[in-house]
Amino acid sequence: MRIRGAVLERIAAPVPFADSAPLTISELELAEPGPGELLVRIEAAGLCHSDLSVVDGNRVRPVPMLLGHEAAGRVEAVGPAEPDIAVGRRVVMTFLPRCGECAGCASEGRTPCIPGSAANNAGELLNGGRRLRRDGAEVHHHLGVSAFATHAVVDRRSVVPVDDDVPPEVAAVLGCAVLTGGGALLNSAPPAKGDRIMVVGLGGVGMAAVLVAVSLGVGEVIAVDTVPEKLALARELGANTALTPAEVAEQGVQAEVVVEAAGNIRAFETAVAATAPGGTTVTVGLPAPDARASISPLALVAQGRSIVGSYLGSAVPSRDIPEYVRLWRAGRLPVERLVSARIGLEQINTAMDELAAGHALRQVIVF
Ligand SMILES: [Zn+2]
Ligand SMILES: [Zn+2]
Repeated sequence: MRIRGAVLERIAAPVPFADSAPLTISELELAEPGPGELLVRIEAAGLCHSDLSVVDGNRVRPVPMLLGHEAAGRVEAVGPAEPDIAVGRRVVMTFLPRCGECAGCASEGRTPCIPGSAANNAGELLNGGRRLRRDGAEVHHHLGVSAFATHAVVDRRSVVPVDDDVPPEVAAVLGCAVLTGGGALLNSAPPAKGDRIMVVGLGGVGMAAVLVAVSLGVGEVIAVDTVPEKLALARELGANTALTPAEVAEQGVQAEVVVEAAGNIRAFETAVAATAPGGTTVTVGLPAPDARASISPLALVAQGRSIVGSYLGSAVPSRDIPEYVRLWRAGRLPVERLVSARIGLEQINTAMDELAAGHALRQVIVF
């Protein structure tokens, strides 16, 4: 079928992207879903920092690539092997498919699926190959999803079904921001009663971590960012304290669980320094591959502190998304508050500039 989508033509184009237009809205040919695959009509797709990282070259991926990995939509057709999802069902896309059979999948989310990661790196679906063509030439899939488009063909193992009462924008944000930010706490360093929780970096993932931290109700929640508007929103969402990194350092504020969700080295060092004795730093941001931090191993040893890395919040999406839906239904996880703007597909380059400037929380493309 013919679809319309935002294709990244080249990486590391000059800023502003509104002028250099690294993404073009193209007509593409989408193949029928193969065995175990679904055709999904996209309803909402969020712009995440990991999309920007492909655009600006921090995360090198093959181009041309149809971007977008945080999305929700409705199943319009199923492939010949008849996956266990009915036509018409709403699904949340998840950006790391899980084959269910490899050593990574056996780790219960602690490490990524091995064939899933390989397919993502190759810009293919989990069963191999690409379903996207433009003028006869193949276009790469982004993380098995490619959701900045009217439709997508995805592997059954790249989606989690949700009920119709979960609105598309909420469902979309569950798939990356909430899975990652929430999982950093729930899966990687579950806080104990009385533990203080600090989140450094209040983008979509960090703010989702704040929401989940507040919903846990275990202890003080401290939000950290350089942008005053984000600190104000974190307070509105229930954070007890909101501080700049400079204030954290000056006041010597610490927490037992500290989530770093900014993806830069200064934030990582702030997070490590603010981790209390016996506490854990969880890092979920994705800095440039050659970035290096300076930390004191002695401080880790002497104070019994840990640093753990967490990709996609060490999530098992089929296990974790229903839990976040339950919290959302109970009114304890107001995920819609993370949506800062609704935009059209044509605004995508401008929206990337907004994201790069650190203004946007979650801009969601609605179809
Ligand atoms: Zn993401
Ligand atoms: Zn696997």
